[in-house]
Amino acid sequence: MTALALHVGPPPELRGLLPDELVGWVARAGAPAYRAEQIFRWLHGHGVESLEAMTNVPTALRDALEREHRTRPLALDTVQTAADGTRKLRFRTGDGHAIESVLIPDEDAERDKLTLCISSQVGCALDCGFCATATLGFTRHLLAGEIVEQVYRATALAGRRPTNLVFMGMGEPLHNFDNVARALTLLEHPWGATFSPRRITVSTSGLVSGIEKLGALSPAPNLAISLNATTDEVRDRIMPVNKRWPIAALLKAAGQFPLSHGRRVTFEYVLLAGVNDSDADADRLPRLLRGIPAKVNLIPWNGFEGPAYARPSAERIRTFQERVRATGMAVYIRTPRGDDIDAACGQLAARDLVTLRPWQPTTI
Ligand code: SF4
Repeated sequence: MTALALHVGPPPELRGLLPDELVGWVARAGAPAYRAEQIFRWLHGHGVESLEAMTNVPTALRDALEREHRTRPLALDTVQTAADGTRKLRFRTGDGHAIESVLIPDEDAERDKLTLCISSQVGCALDCGFCATATLGFTRHLLAGEIVEQVYRATALAGRRPTNLVFMGMGEPLHNFDNVARALTLLEHPWGATFSPRRITVSTSGLVSGIEKLGALSPAPNLAISLNATTDEVRDRIMPVNKRWPIAALLKAAGQFPLSHGRRVTFEYVLLAGVNDSDADADRLPRLLRGIPAKVNLIPWNGFEGPAYARPSAERIRTFQERVRATGMAVYIRTPRGDDIDAACGQLAARDLVTLRPWQPTTI
């Protein structure tokens, strides 16, 4: 086996290699070109956990792969199952951090939909006031291989492939743009898991530069924006990212996001009693979104220890929805899923494995 060029820094992550990079490695290793496709299929089509499982790849080539790459997969640490069938998967990364993914079956079993919510960072730097992940602070970006590995481990656990992937777990995906873009390529590639970009949604708290880069991907995945306020005054307070990219800049980027036929931008709106749930908010929301192919998901706040927020009453939530709907806007109330195991939106904090620490601002 030919020796490869020396790497500066840690060796590359095997599961994060793009097909072209694997082709290049195989060529440098002096192996036939078809080995690259074989290896990629094992990694991403079958999602194997160990190199030994690559039974049609010669041992010498597997040994070289192991020597020259980081191959340590995520370890599945705990699985919790909620009363509604939602399952929260807690993983440990190779360097010991905890991250979480959530498998969410459709409420209507006949639809046979299985959504997997995945994490993109250990913790998060964005400090949204209503979100449990924010209390962890930011530790590091997940590598592309660690992002896709969540999908393959969840697939093995569920015994079937998720029908939909959403980047709505721990972290701000567009803060980790390069690894997320790489993960999208890996997940969509015809040699691998072949996810359609139409079945993948990237959710952002509003990083305008990231939205522009995401829209430039070909093909672009679906876009969701966590909006949560109708005035800059309120959004500044509950989402500090708004001070950098206020609502007008955010909605301009949303309006320019490329959408193929029938697709819409999803706007998530976490309802906080007395903060953003007034009639005036309900009336402003559709006016703000005018001209953008959009749908709105109202998310009654999922509580956790700490912030002084409350979920609005069921009546307030319904009234808010009705006022928005009266304008012709598509608006849905998202039933909290897995909230009894802290798996609902905004509740992921990998409890027990991480120590809560003060937030440190990070340049984005
Ligand atoms: S809502 Fe998203 S972006 Fe905001 S702190 Fe939580 S994980 Fe980060």
